[in-house]
Amino acid sequence: MKSIQERILRDGHVIGEDILKVDSFLNHQIDVSFLREFAAGAKEFFASAQVDKVLTIETSGIAVAYALCEAFGDVPLVFAKKSKSKTVDENVFKTLVKSFTRGAVSEVTVAKKYLRPGERILIADDFLAEGSAAMGLLDLIRQAGAIPVGAAIVIEKAFQGGHARLEGEGVPVFAGASIRAFKDGKPVF
Ligand code: 5GP
Repeated sequence: MKSIQERILRDGHVIGEDILKVDSFLNHQIDVSFLREFAAGAKEFFASAQVDKVLTIETSGIAVAYALCEAFGDVPLVFAKKSKSKTVDENVFKTLVKSFTRGAVSEVTVAKKYLRPGERILIADDFLAEGSAAMGLLDLIRQAGAIPVGAAIVIEKAFQGGHARLEGEGVPVFAGASIRAFKDGKPVF
């Protein structure tokens, strides 16, 4: 979406080789009308899809998912939790996710009662990089016997492989902005 590209160029900062910082409108302070516009774009992209729930990972995916839930008719929002407990819990689905920004692998969980067989689930997140977070969510959806409708991501860095991984699993991806590369400290779309 042109407006998202413009916002990134105006307010985003490239950190090192591969990180885009967008704290002023997405990751620290959140521009609600920006997210609403993104969600309207996603709704248009997935116009013919029935979506029963939107699934994301805490924390930064939650606001994105909220905007999507409204756009898809106030469907429920479910967020996977980054669990710290080592106790065995039979009532949750679990998967492992590697943090792109920190490198650590952590277990994420979602209660079985919030993902049911046959439910049609839209994956949501703020960024798509190598795809570990989105693939983890896809794993949770499949464990539940639910159906992945697609993934709606505000900003993807297409050169880091996540988009291709999801499409390889048959999951269509909508990205509000798709970054092809960082060149001279600026994103190229
Ligand atoms: P992936 O799992 O696709 O490798 O990375 C996606 C996750 O890492 C997102 O949930 C997001 O929080 C974080 N992330 C990846 N790349 C960036 C980035 O360039 N900037 C920010 N702010 N977060 C990122």
